[in-house]
Amino acid sequence: MKRIKLIVILMILIIGIPSIVDAKLRVVVSYNYIADIVKKIGGEEVVVTPLSKGYKDPHYITPRPSFIAKMRKADLLIINGGQLEIGWIPPILKKANNPRINPGNKGFLDLFSFIEGIDIPKEISRAHGDVHPDGNPHFHLDPENILIVSKVIRDKLIDLNLSNKDIFTKRYKEFSEMWKKKIADWEMSLEKFSGKNVVQYHKNFDYFLKRFNLEQLGTLEPVPGIPPSTKHILEMIEIINNKGAEFIIHDVYHMKKPSRFVNRKTGVKLVVLPHDVGSVDEAIDIVSLFDEIVRRLLK
Ligand SMILES: [Zn+2]
Repeated sequence: MKRIKLIVILMILIIGIPSIVDAKLRVVVSYNYIADIVKKIGGEEVVVTPLSKGYKDPHYITPRPSFIAKMRKADLLIINGGQLEIGWIPPILKKANNPRINPGNKGFLDLFSFIEGIDIPKEISRAHGDVHPDGNPHFHLDPENILIVSKVIRDKLIDLNLSNKDIFTKRYKEFSEMWKKKIADWEMSLEKFSGKNVVQYHKNFDYFLKRFNLEQLGTLEPVPGIPPSTKHILEMIEIINNKGAEFIIHDVYHMKKPSRFVNRKTGVKLVVLPHDVGSVDEAIDIVSLFDEIVRRLLK
C-alpha cells in the first residue's frame, strides 16, 4: 500500500505539476507596466514575463539571449508599439521563431494600435534621428489610456483562454472601478497646476500633461532621441524666462546635467519622474507608479 502511495505521489510530481504549469497562459511583454496590468487581470491563471527593467531607457533595451528562450515558449507577446521597441524586439522575435506570437497572429498584441496617438506625422520618417517616427509612443502615462489597454488585454486573455473568461472579466471590472476612482483623486491633486507651463527633457509625459491640462513649452532634446545642443538649451532658457514655468520634468535614465543647468539658470523646479513600474523603488505597480508621479509633482 505504501508503495502504491509513493508511486501515486511520484506520478503527481512527474506528470501532474508540469501539466498544471503548462495550463497557464505564458505571456511575454516588453515593459513592466504591461506586465502589471496582465498580472492584475490574469492573476494566477497566467505567467507573465517582462523583458526589460523599468529603470532603463525604453527606446534602447539591450536584447539578451534569454529573451529569445522566453519568446520561444510564449503563447502571447504584448508590446507597447508605436516603434518604441523597434530597435530590440524584431531581431529577437525573428530568432525565437515562434509563429504563435508573430505580428498578425493571435498571440501578438500591439497596444499602441488601440490608442489615439499624439504627434502622429503625416509621413513616417526618422528624419534628424527622431525616435518617435510614428508619433509619441509613451501613451501609457495617460491613466485613461490604461483603462483602454487593460480592456484590450482582458479581451486577448479571454480569446486565448476562454475557460477563464469569468475570472478575467471579474478582475478587469474590479481593476477598472478602482482605477477610475484613482483618476479622480489624481485629477483633484493636480488641479492646482492646471494651465501651468512645463518643460521636459524627453517627450515622455506628453499624454500625462495633456490629460492633466499642463502646457508644454518645449523639450530640452531638440528632437526626440537627440541630446540638447548649447544653442537649443539657451533658446529654451529664454522661452522659460519669458513665459514662466512650474517644472522641468526629467526622467530616471537620461543624464541630468542639461536639466540641472536650466534649473540653475531659471530657478524652475527640476523634478525627476518615474515612467514605468520599477523605474524607482516606490513604483511597485501601475497604481503606485502614478501615485509617485503625483507625489513628486506636489512635493
Ligand atoms: Zn520617447
